[in-house]
Amino acid sequence: MRCIFCKRDSTKSRSIEHIIPESLGNIDHVLPRGAVCDTCNNYFARKVEGPLLDTQWFRHARSRQWVPNKRGLIPPMRGVVPGARMSADVWLDGSKLTFGGSNQRERDVLTDAILTGRARSVYIPIIEAIDPRLMSRFLAKIGLEVLSERLLPVDGWNEKIVDMTALDPLRHFARVGDRPEKWPFSRRRIYGEDDVQQEGDDGYQVLHEFTILCEPLPEPGQLDLYAVVCIFGEEFAINLGEPEIASYERWLTAHDGTSPLYISDRLPLPSIFE
Ligand SMILES: [Zn+2]
Repeated sequence: MRCIFCKRDSTKSRSIEHIIPESLGNIDHVLPRGAVCDTCNNYFARKVEGPLLDTQWFRHARSRQWVPNKRGLIPPMRGVVPGARMSADVWLDGSKLTFGGSNQRERDVLTDAILTGRARSVYIPIIEAIDPRLMSRFLAKIGLEVLSERLLPVDGWNEKIVDMTALDPLRHFARVGDRPEKWPFSRRRIYGEDDVQQEGDDGYQVLHEFTILCEPLPEPGQLDLYAVVCIFGEEFAINLGEPEIASYERWLTAHDGTSPLYISDRLPLPSIFE
């Protein structure tokens, strides 16, 4: 087995790669041992996933959705308490609010302001911005892994992924990150974060899902491959071959804005792998 990112022999690697991080609630979608070597697995955790999940958009979404990290802790949102003239950590569980300060002094001031009735409200900002560079690299990592997962049933999938030079710029961008400067991605909300999807009698909440979209290009024999991922109700799409999303936008227009995620069971496997 060779690592799908650095291409080194990964036969002795022990890591089981989570396509979406466990801290986003993923326990099911993993790649077999060695698909991503220990060094690359560790690099992504420290340099891409860790810093990205620690940004405000992810912290707030994880907090609202009550998704614990690997140690079982729910990250707080950062709110402002005007009555105490300070910001504070806030957890919202149903109608129950829990406050926290980052040190004892902050906690004392906050407690005093609440008990004396000066602090009557808390404002929690709505965070829209996502660090574009970290997010692109995160999507590049997920994209190559989603493609690999899709091809697991194909004989020789590992060599095919490793030997496909068209994926080298994406590998480099995810694993090293120095070039190209930008790798754009498509982002749009496709359902509410709290929406409960119905399947049979059971309602369930979707934290994340993903698929691969193959879009033929005008040039004969050429196609674009996209990884499409939904996280907390927002759909993200990244082109696995080049830093360009024009053909994805064309696809959306031609399909009245339907997400490929909704018709993923009808999308063909990329013909190049047959
Ligand atoms: Zn590696």
